[in-house]
Amino acid sequence: MPRPHAPAHAEDDLLPLPSDQDATGRTLGDEEIAAVTDALRSGTLTVTKGAQGKTLEARFAAMVGATFATACSSGSAAIHCAVAAIDPEPGDEIITTSITDMGALTPILYQGAIPVFADVDPATGNVTARSIAQRLSPRTKAIVVTHLFGNPCNMTAIMALARSRNVRVIEDCAQAFLATHRGRPVGTFGDLGCFSLQQGKHVTTGEGGLVVSNDAALARRVYLFVNKAWGYGDANADHYFLALNYRFTELQAAVANAQMAKLDGVVQARAKMAALMDDLLAGVPGVEVPKPGHNSTHVYWKYPLRIDPAVIPGGPPALAKLLKAVSVASAPRYIVKPAFRCAVIRDQQTFGRSRWPFTLARPEAVDYAAERFPGTFEYLDRVLVLPWNERYTPAHVEYLANAVRVAAEQLRETRIPVEGGVA
Ligand SMILES: *Cc1c(COP(=O)(O)O)cnc(C)c1O
Repeated sequence: MPRPHAPAHAEDDLLPLPSDQDATGRTLGDEEIAAVTDALRSGTLTVTKGAQGKTLEARFAAMVGATFATACSSGSAAIHCAVAAIDPEPGDEIITTSITDMGALTPILYQGAIPVFADVDPATGNVTARSIAQRLSPRTKAIVVTHLFGNPCNMTAIMALARSRNVRVIEDCAQAFLATHRGRPVGTFGDLGCFSLQQGKHVTTGEGGLVVSNDAALARRVYLFVNKAWGYGDANADHYFLALNYRFTELQAAVANAQMAKLDGVVQARAKMAALMDDLLAGVPGVEVPKPGHNSTHVYWKYPLRIDPAVIPGGPPALAKLLKAVSVASAPRYIVKPAFRCAVIRDQQTFGRSRWPFTLARPEAVDYAAERFPGTFEYLDRVLVLPWNERYTPAHVEYLANAVRVAAEQLRETRIPVEGGVA
């Protein structure tokens, strides 16, 4: 008699997926090797004197339609530069999202400002003009939005709100290279746009970041913040304000230049396979595929599913467990808990025992009561993040879709029938 719940795949049926952590899922090749070799032979490895960094900045600015771009050492550094460019007073409030990378949040604290968490849309995990509006106060200096998983926030609505309140906007585009809203790449709707070149992003130099802007004064402050605020080339150069060395190197810039030539292809490949995945999962009960926002394109840093636990018993964690058995590493709950439940923010672990700058905060700005974040908790309870990659072939996508479909079916069959109903 056949076992009713035989594993979906025997050991030798497992299909390894390309991984963004090694060569199987990266576009690093001869072009990068040649560029690094050239940089090494030039003998100039600092971007302050070399050509690669300048080329990268000009090239990336043109790619996203910005006037200025500055390379730096990480995505977190990029956010730090952007916040420092806005130059908040200690205790100023910066509204941000409860679901993002910690690298988008700690720079706010380093600059003495208070991160104030807006709730997210439970359909996308993104902040909205409405959720941001609920957190505005006379102390609001800026807003940092994250285009989660490569799906743009509604920048039309967010910018209208921000401009009406004279509040600056920083876009965290670490997961959203070349994603568009109303036909324009994200990064220049706000005052500053930040990108990451970390190993797992669309294009990579291992670590690295970029900041774009159309505002000459803000771009100047970003440049200075990367360079210890030393006014290179100025008549009376000085260290003008508190700043770090957040420079990129020529080696990284050489790799980045070769990677940028491939970025458009990476984004297109990811979107094409995502469209196939959408088709293959259409009609699977309890499984909702990611959809781009109104007037936007999604660039699929990951492929986040929304799972309805009322239809699929056990929800995302149970599905993830079954997927793991067929060697698919998914992430139920993405960051697991909202950012405000992380020790650094929950316990205000900042500078010594001072708790500064939280000591300057209005009580409401640091009120993390769960009932103020219904969208956040609903989204985390439902999201199952599938790894996504430009090297996926239709065979990989079919394998992934089949794994999800079989696992979902298996869990649905375990559902306890309700009295008088049909299971
Ligand atoms: C990766 C990431 C960052 C931080 O970038 P690093 O290069 O890792 O410092 C910030 N925000 C988001 C949304 C990210 O995905």
